Amino acid sequence: MMFCPECKSLMMASAGKLRCKKCGYIKDISDATKLQKTKERTDKEIIIVDDDTHLITMPTTTVRCPECGNRTAEWWMRQLRSADESETRFYRCTKCKFTWREYD
Ligand SMILES: [Zn+2]
Ligand SMILES: [Zn+2]
Repeated sequence: MMFCPECKSLMMASAGKLRCKKCGYIKDISDATKLQKTKERTDKEIIIVDDDTHLITMPTTTVRCPECGNRTAEWWMRQLRSADESETRFYRCTKCKFTWREYD
């Protein structure tokens, strides 16, 4: 509910504006009803390769890269943030550096 700042009458919304029927005062509806958008942080599962990961020589294994078809990839284990998940194996293609996780 918006009341006219001039005469305190109830204002009516019409064509994106608030209009006072009594005195004709017009107010833009957009700055009267600023919708507060709540930023929802989606904690998506993201594969993060730490900056220091590539400094360590990781073991390689024979696995097919889903990206380029190369058959050698470095691998490592990583505990995911969600507690119910066990350790997951990650692969990184030695050719195109594509990183993926093992699904079983
Ligand atoms: Zn008014
Ligand atoms: Zn690849």
